[in-house]
Amino acid sequence: MNEGHHSFGRAGFGAVMGSKNLKAIVVKGHNRIVDVAQPEKYEELRKSINSTIKESLAAGLTGENGTAANLEVGMFAGDVPIRNFTSNFNEEMGDALGGSALADNYLTRRRACAYCSIACKRVVEVKDGPFNIPNGSGPEYETIVAFGSLMNSDDLAASCKAGRICNDFGMDTISAGVTIAWAMEAAEKGDLSITDLDSIDLKWSDLETVVEVILPKIAQRDGKLGNLLQLLCIKSGKTRSIIQRKVKAWKHPCMIPEVEVMV
Ligand code: SF4
Repeated sequence: MNEGHHSFGRAGFGAVMGSKNLKAIVVKGHNRIVDVAQPEKYEELRKSINSTIKESLAAGLTGENGTAANLEVGMFAGDVPIRNFTSNFNEEMGDALGGSALADNYLTRRRACAYCSIACKRVVEVKDGPFNIPNGSGPEYETIVAFGSLMNSDDLAASCKAGRICNDFGMDTISAGVTIAWAMEAAEKGDLSITDLDSIDLKWSDLETVVEVILPKIAQRDGKLGNLLQLLCIKSGKTRSIIQRKVKAWKHPCMIPEVEVMV
């Protein structure tokens, strides 16, 4: 984990550390004063950049609604994938999963990386229901979409909980979510047998099964399904009907590059 709540899962760095029994890398600075050659010019430039950022619409939206602000805007641009990339528009889903819904329902605090004036980080709490989680790190755009629209779900609390569980397991939310969404489509099309699925009824939108059964199975390589999906998080999935979208060994992020987004 980086800063206590960012999982170092993407591209498998966390897995490499785990395989080497490396638990942590600590970076500790001892010289907190950095000499600047031209302090006045530096201060002038810093103020000018900060005021440009504050006046920017994109920075304002990102600070207000986090990176999930991209979900509401991206949905209308056709840039948000749904049902394992088989669709790219659902207005109600965009509203239910977007950054303003997160702010209205679960946000308890906005946070920033050191000295950042945008503050896109979210702190959330889900008090009730099957996806309740204590106050802590909140999901970003990719996590919300990977465990939301990509699985045909509009349950924002489920995305919050799935992200937290992936953090606990040290798993990358994009790799895990994109792989599970692929398996949902493969199950629907009959490309994964009941034996492949360990007799689990894997269906679109069933986030309770994803959170309680599938994610732990992947993390522990449990059963045929756990082994298959764990492997597919790092290799490509291909069945009779569908192939998994990926870029080299990486699972495809939750956007649709065929769509040209005008800013
Ligand atoms: S520096 Fe951190 S808080 Fe600021 S925009 Fe980037 S990720 Fe968000």
